[in-house]
Amino acid sequence: MNPAVRIDPETGLKVFNTRAAKASEKIAGTGYSVTTDQKLKELPELPPGATFNAEEQAKYLAFKEARRGAADYINMEGEFKKYLDDVYSEPPIPREALTDECEILVVGGGFGGLLLWHKLSQAGFTDVRFCEKGGDVGGTWYWNRYPGIACDVESYSYLPLLEETGYIPSMKFASGFEILEYCQNLANKFGFYDHCLFHTTVAATTWDEASGRWIVETDRGDKMRARFVILANGILTTPKLARIAGMEKFKGEAFHTSRWNYNIDLRGKTVGIIGTGATAVQAVPELAKIVGQLYVFQRTPSSIDVRDQRATTDEERATWADEPGWARARRARFARISAGRTAIQANDDYLAGKVQEIKQPKQHDYKISPEELVQKQLDSNFRIMEQIRARVDAIVKDPKTAAALKPYYPYGCKRPTFHDEYLPTFNLPHVHLVDTAPRGVSEINERGVVHEGVEYPLDVLIYATGFQWMGTSTFNMVTGRGGRTLKEKWETEGTKTFLGLHSHGFPNLFIVTGPQGGGGSFNFTDAIDAHGDYVVWMLQTMRDRGARIVDVRKELEEAYAEHCREVDIATAPLRDCISYYNGEGNAAPGSLAYYGGGKWHKHRIPAQSTLYPYLFEGGSG
Ligand SMILES: Cc1cc2nc3c(=O)[nH]c(=O)nc-3n(C[C@H](O)[C@H](O)[C@H](O)COP(=O)(O)OP(=O)(O)OC[C@H]3O[C@@H](n4cnc5c(N)ncnc54)[C@H](O)[C@@H]3O)c2cc1C
Repeated sequence: MNPAVRIDPETGLKVFNTRAAKASEKIAGTGYSVTTDQKLKELPELPPGATFNAEEQAKYLAFKEARRGAADYINMEGEFKKYLDDVYSEPPIPREALTDECEILVVGGGFGGLLLWHKLSQAGFTDVRFCEKGGDVGGTWYWNRYPGIACDVESYSYLPLLEETGYIPSMKFASGFEILEYCQNLANKFGFYDHCLFHTTVAATTWDEASGRWIVETDRGDKMRARFVILANGILTTPKLARIAGMEKFKGEAFHTSRWNYNIDLRGKTVGIIGTGATAVQAVPELAKIVGQLYVFQRTPSSIDVRDQRATTDEERATWADEPGWARARRARFARISAGRTAIQANDDYLAGKVQEIKQPKQHDYKISPEELVQKQLDSNFRIMEQIRARVDAIVKDPKTAAALKPYYPYGCKRPTFHDEYLPTFNLPHVHLVDTAPRGVSEINERGVVHEGVEYPLDVLIYATGFQWMGTSTFNMVTGRGGRTLKEKWETEGTKTFLGLHSHGFPNLFIVTGPQGGGGSFNFTDAIDAHGDYVVWMLQTMRDRGARIVDVRKELEEAYAEHCREVDIATAPLRDCISYYNGEGNAAPGSLAYYGGGKWHKHRIPAQSTLYPYLFEGGSG
């Protein structure tokens, strides 16, 4: 057995062997079965007379206002810290603490880390070290292993480097277990494992002005130095819990969906699941297949569109085998999709290049203003939601349950979901929707959940309460020039970045897919790709100039933050509901995700060609 840390005699660099073994073979799953019932694969016709009139607008507003302030989440600290344990891997591989130096240190071993390694190593940057909290690669797909997990961007576009690996996903929407295996294949093929310290959480990242290095401290006692730090720690990494009175009293088994406890045999048990977001929509139908009784506690329903899952066809396999570049071309076509619903529908003819457009773009006989465009989008968005609501009535038999499952907010304001088995699940006699609208579950006791005076005794309670969005805890531990933390900067000044990738006062630090980071599409790995390319470009530029340090001009960062604010405000009516996307209605405009679409490139391209925004030190910079 190789030691956990050794020196490669050829390169003189440290090589690691810290990947942990899988904790148990019980941790396995397959994803979805294919639905054959044609009725479940089409949305009903638009109900007659559906217009987004004043009455409907008032309904949306009331739906939103009733929920304002209801979302109250807590971090998993103190007695809830146990919910963060890595249940998927054997204990960490023992190793010495590291106090040496590397050129580039990357936080995170998800698709972000994997793609960065691929790009960096190809560009000749090999002194790269990754720190990953989990015991293996995969990130999102390592942590989330609930039954039914699958991607909702079609896998032929979502999985990067398909040509390079020669891999073809088995389903249009591959199961999370297959995606995890794919990440492991990527890591093996490209030598990622040698570079990664698993079960290593970065606890502090501090800029040392004297040496022009970052000092990176971890929970394994490491104190490493690095010229560059890249934060690839994800956007949905830190799970959160809803704050519910008495939750610490529950005597049964409980866990969060991102740490699924496969040691608990759910067969025949009475199980409760709190939350009905994207995760629950995937997990509930699978849970219903095995548990005795299932109670689904819902505050706000998700929009449940048609999924139309299918296996990859033999014809596709044959075509792609003869078509070099097929996956790159498909990803590029996917990236051109500008509407969320079109993205999840993932039209095969368009993505395969058989047709140039999914539908003919509308021609207007006058120049349409941005405000008119938003209004038009809201109107067509309303029609989609009407069809989604009609689908609930067409499938769910109990009228009271159907009424509770209907969402009243703009499509896409909360993460849009799709599934062909979720709604029919509520027709099963052992599945019960407990409608806790609009304020959510308010009490948990020793035996289970209490709502409006009714107690629901449970053997197992599952929290499907989601994640912090866009503000992963690593950001809070970064201390830049003058001893100022990134958290403090953003709390006092608002989120300030240039392109989402740099923040003034934090030299040689790159934030991949963080707040304000555009350049992506509905496919998240696109943004990772764009940001990875940018980072490599910057490192090459610095190498060519002999520059040691890069920071960004404050005024350019201010202007970019203002741009993010403006594009967020301009499209805000499309996100007018209480959602994690808008910080439950509390986030300052422009402080979270980027809403400027292709405009990000209009900031990036001149920056890269003039280099004006950058402050280089050392060399010719
Ligand atoms: C259930 C679920 C389904 C999703 N489905 C899709 C989809 O279908 N399509 C899509 O485009 N996107 C989807 N996403 C978004 C998904 O997160 C991205 O697609 C992508 O996987 C993100 O990769 P990443 O490497 O940037 O982040 P992650 O996959 O989150 O990886 C970040 C890693 O950083 C590690 N980390 C964080 N902080 C530290 C620290 N301080 N020290 C050490 N390690 C740290 C974490 O442990 C994690 O492994 C989904 C997200 C979730 C939660």
